Amino acid sequence: MSINIAIDGPAGAGKSTIAKMVSAELGYIYVDTGALYRTIALFIKENNISDENIPTEIKKADVSLKFVDGTQKVFLGDRDVSGFIRTPEISMEASRTSAMPVVREYLFDTQQKIARENNVIMDGRDIGTVVLPNADVKIFLTATPEERANRRYKELAEKPNCPCYEEILSDIIERDHNDMNRSVAPLKQADDAVLVDTTYLTLQQSANEIIRIINEKTGR
Ligand code: C5P
Repeated sequence: MSINIAIDGPAGAGKSTIAKMVSAELGYIYVDTGALYRTIALFIKENNISDENIPTEIKKADVSLKFVDGTQKVFLGDRDVSGFIRTPEISMEASRTSAMPVVREYLFDTQQKIARENNVIMDGRDIGTVVLPNADVKIFLTATPEERANRRYKELAEKPNCPCYEEILSDIIERDHNDMNRSVAPLKQADDAVLVDTTYLTLQQSANEIIRIINEKTGR
């Protein structure tokens, strides 16, 4: 039986960076499910698909995940689109379209299959509550919106045309609101998840804390 670790939490809590560190340490596959929602959002944008046509058109998306040297890549057909899904526009479109049941259903099997076949650390919004309700360990990773915006601002500050702090903060608050208030699979802490607040923790401290929780729960 494969071991499944679910990490959920809001945008910018450090899930992907920390999950990558933890999976490297434990030798598990890291699955970033947000990238799948982003890939669907890209498909919808690139093909100008209207909301009413999503249920039929999504079947043509052919989204898949591949692991190249341990790093996850996302594909539309045979096109690697990993480099095109991290724009603010796609973030917002993913947040909007991920609220649609048809989008969530489309990605559900892909996520479950990877977890069945591999030891995984899977991050997202509904992994512990919906996708892997029987995960061996569930973590809910969070930080204040201001700290999350601050981290994102520092990441982007070097780049041309970077958005200002207030813009980043308002995007984060809007995405939190969308994710927590949608009727299907809203972002929430599973009853049996352990809360880890990273507001005052470094990345290494956060990763260490998660490894400690995993070892304790799995008896490693
Ligand atoms: O994690 P990331 O910010 O890349 O995810 C992009 C968007 O995809 C999120 O804002 C969220 O709306 C959606 N998402 C989701 N369920 C997941 C992962 C991501 O609804 N399991």
